[in-house]
Amino acid sequence: MPPITDIGPILKGQRALVTGASSGIGADVAKELAKAGAAVAVNYAGNPAGAEAVVAEITARGGTAFSIRADVSQEADVKAMFAKVVETFGTLDILVNNAGLQKDAPFHELSIEDWNRVIGVNLTGQFLCAREAVNEFLRRGPQPELSAALGKIICISSVHDVIPWAGHANYAASKGGVMMLMKTMAQELAGKKIRVNSVSPGAIRTPINRAAWETPEAEAELLKLIPYYRVGDPPDIGRAVVWLASDAADYVTGTTLYVDGGMTLYPEFREGG
Ligand code: NAD
Repeated sequence: MPPITDIGPILKGQRALVTGASSGIGADVAKELAKAGAAVAVNYAGNPAGAEAVVAEITARGGTAFSIRADVSQEADVKAMFAKVVETFGTLDILVNNAGLQKDAPFHELSIEDWNRVIGVNLTGQFLCAREAVNEFLRRGPQPELSAALGKIICISSVHDVIPWAGHANYAASKGGVMMLMKTMAQELAGKKIRVNSVSPGAIRTPINRAAWETPEAEAELLKLIPYYRVGDPPDIGRAVVWLASDAADYVTGTTLYVDGGMTLYPEFREGG
């Protein structure tokens, strides 16, 4: 049997913002949220055409979406983006902190610029967006007819929040930071009925890791790390996000859902170690 791809309209009437949604995982998270009935703000930093294509696909299916530019590492951009989302949708129910990038280098050659940029987007960007979202949830107040929670934040992290990654110290540090940011927000905000969780993807076929799956040789090497023996696709992540954002996951907060085909299961030990 193929995987279930239609979860049904479990987010009907809710409003979502997905950062970095003009490509890859973010684009499919936006589409899956829209399929589940949410109106979606599609954030982009430098690729308006990609964001417009996502909006067009959602609206062609009868959904609601608009695109909005902001560099998530810039406080003024983030504040302006949230003001626009609230002006357009009235409020926000779901934030998906997805924007991220890699700037890889051997550790001893890693520049301060590449360190700061990756931390700035992957970690500070998640903080800036989450803070604005929480303030909007608190301002708006409960809407029990739409959701049991006051608001939901989903942080797109990575298996590299627990797997160290040579040559990617800035990236692994940013994702490790996302895990503690997520858990601390979840602990602090649970009493206000705000749920905060992470989805940590394994190897998903997107532009960020093209070199790892583009040739059959590269893909064969990658598959050695994946017990379930397939490279993931962005909708695998989108469906996990939809579930975490929905009331089906109402008792879930402060946790990380690894959507990785078993990559975090120490695959080298498959044959007994
Ligand atoms: P991607 O490069 O297609 O997506 C990243 C998106 O973030 C792009 O649309 C990019 O424009 C956007 N972005 C970058 N800097 C930004 C900024 N300053 N402000 C706003 N947007 C910005 O790659 P992806 O794989 O779809 O990555 C999405 C998320 O998933 C990232 O956080 C990444 O770390 C994470 N992730 C991906 C994989 C994978 O295998 N593809 C695995 C683990 C985690």
